[in-house]
Amino acid sequence: MDVNKFVAADKLSWYTFDVPFALDGRAVATDGNAIICGPAGSGDGFASGTVPQVGIRRILERIEATQLSPLESFHLPEMPTCRTCAGDGRAEYVPCTKCSDTQLSDCPECLGEGVVTMVGPSCPPCPICRGTGRGYSMSQRIDIAGIQVAGRYLMRIMGREGVQVGKVPGMKMLAFRAGEYTGGIMGLRH
Ligand SMILES: [Zn+2]
Ligand SMILES: [Zn+2]
Repeated sequence: MDVNKFVAADKLSWYTFDVPFALDGRAVATDGNAIICGPAGSGDGFASGTVPQVGIRRILERIEATQLSPLESFHLPEMPTCRTCAGDGRAEYVPCTKCSDTQLSDCPECLGEGVVTMVGPSCPPCPICRGTGRGYSMSQRIDIAGIQVAGRYLMRIMGREGVQVGKVPGMKMLAFRAGEYTGGIMGLRH
């Protein structure tokens, strides 16, 4: 697992962070919709300033107390062809050469994303589907344990060995565990 994938693009409020932070000897990352907690040193760069430890500790405690079952035991919809690599399983995000100096928000090449997707046999395994060629799309809603989660978050834990998930009691949140990593994904509104 890569805790860096769980940070927000920008620090927008007290519960979103654009870098992981250390808490109780572990590395934590959250964008406000999903949170992950891993071994110390498992993230790059650490947030300085005030981390709302009480709220985050409380959420992590509830996640850790959640009863989990293997992900395979849930009935999940079939995965469509991965949109990032178009099913080839090979893709890479590279900085946009057209706007790398200017960061044009209306760049026609990257639509202001700053990166473009390269595909082809010389690319590494696709960052979204990890080479399988199949994956839920970013905004697809997937019902799991009675919670609807967005494909963009579910794909971060899919395909990992021994992933377990469960509904956090009293919260619209899916808890997960994979090896030394635990975390949660907020459910979408029905
Ligand atoms: Zn561009
Ligand atoms: Zn892919």
